[in-house]
Amino acid sequence: MDHWSESEGKRAHDPIFQTYFSQNCGQHVEDFCKGRSADAAVTPSQRCTLVPGPIIVGAGPSGLAVAACLKEKGVDSLIFERSNCIASLWQLKTYDRLSLHLPRQFCELPLMPFPADYPIYPSKKEFVAYLEKYAARFGICPTYNHTVVCAEYDVKRLLWRVRMQATGRIGEEVEYMSRWLVVATGENAEVVQPEIGGLKEFKGTVMHTSAYKTGRVFAGKRVLVVGCGNSGMEVCLDLCNNNAHPHIVVRDTVHILPREMLGHSTFGLSMWLLKWLPVHVVDLFLLLVARAMLGDTARLGLKRPTVGPLELKSLSGKTPVLDVGTFAKIRSGDIKVHPDIKRISGRQVEFLDTSSEDFDAIVLATGYRSNVPFWLKDRELFSEKDGLPRKAFPNGWKGERGLYSAGLTRRGLMGTSLDARRIAHDVEQQLRAEGKYPGVLL
Ligand SMILES: Cc1cc2nc3c(=O)[nH]c(=O)nc-3n(C[C@H](O)[C@H](O)[C@H](O)COP(=O)(O)OP(=O)(O)OC[C@H]3O[C@@H](n4cnc5c(N)ncnc54)[C@H](O)[C@@H]3O)c2cc1C
Repeated sequence: MDHWSESEGKRAHDPIFQTYFSQNCGQHVEDFCKGRSADAAVTPSQRCTLVPGPIIVGAGPSGLAVAACLKEKGVDSLIFERSNCIASLWQLKTYDRLSLHLPRQFCELPLMPFPADYPIYPSKKEFVAYLEKYAARFGICPTYNHTVVCAEYDVKRLLWRVRMQATGRIGEEVEYMSRWLVVATGENAEVVQPEIGGLKEFKGTVMHTSAYKTGRVFAGKRVLVVGCGNSGMEVCLDLCNNNAHPHIVVRDTVHILPREMLGHSTFGLSMWLLKWLPVHVVDLFLLLVARAMLGDTARLGLKRPTVGPLELKSLSGKTPVLDVGTFAKIRSGDIKVHPDIKRISGRQVEFLDTSSEDFDAIVLATGYRSNVPFWLKDRELFSEKDGLPRKAFPNGWKGERGLYSAGLTRRGLMGTSLDARRIAHDVEQQLRAEGKYPGVLL
């Protein structure tokens, strides 16, 4: 197929091409590239499309927030999402009883508040409904089932080349180009599964929390939850409430704080206190109140780190557990606490203190990680080690040559909102400097 007929075929069949090139009088990439470099012509076998606005990778809350902020400024963007829906983490990979961990005022996306009748901690269903309305309000229509497998800057064309596969169809790749690339693939893109001796041969069910929905299916069963972050603790509570017998492995030190203190959300109270007091004083206050409300957590096997909860969060990104009732179940003995696992054989799990127990199932609450280093060929903005921006918050949102990061701040949805506003403002400023703004809807 020659260039012209490929373009014509694309014009007829590709909704993205139609959106961007029929309505917005864009340029097909061959024509665009001809003007920039003699070497830049695409080969006939490549499906390569120039996108006039930013390309956003990921249709979670961060991708949606960036698209909305750009839209508000009259700039269209194109989102590629590997799954078949927006907010796939929330819709496909979280348990049924999940509510926002933080009060709603800290979780709103830019330009659209939560409905007034929403509770302080909206449920997952309510949060997803809000995101659906958000996408509809700003006319955001992601291109689903497209996994970005490679993105690199083309120094000849001065464009980001973003290659993707239709999800599950290895080998069939398409390529898009844009001068702006927004990474919004999340801190929770891939599950982390630790190496545990004997786990592969375990005779019962093994699942990551991303596959856990409800404790109902475990009624009467002995379940070992590995990991005591917010998800692990909440899964234990859910198992208890559904008449299962949960045990939890505490591999590390952990800060447990009640979700509410003195009639306020602990998070909100901390944010307010930080306006007036240094972080170590606020930490001291939080630990004193937590001690008064929960007692000495170390006595029940949950030792606290030597650094306070807020300081630890800012140093390492490790989030304190905001307890919604799990700790009371630990205290009452309904949830048993164990140190790390030594080995597993058959259904038997041996712990580091040499105790051992039989289990029917193991739930790995062992977290997630970013997948950016696997597909982004740029080592300046993002660290290879953890796939997060190298620069500390709030300076990690912008890289060189039109590269941006959204929602990878370890600051939850508040970080997302800040990133989204900054990215949209930055793109707007560039267009203004080129005399293309206002008035040009990309
Ligand atoms: C259980 C849980 C509860 C949380 N509760 C709160 C809370 O109460 N308040 C708060 O502020 N934060 C909370 N967070 C943290 C954070 O706000 C959420 O994880 C939020 O979903 C982050 O949004 P995101 O868009 O950055 O990432 P995600 O929601 O993970 O979205 C990223 C999207 O990118 C897609 N993607 C990934 N790789 C590719 C690729 N290569 N190509 C194409 N698409 C790709 C994914 O499929 C996904 O849809 C919570 C996190 C978890 C796990």
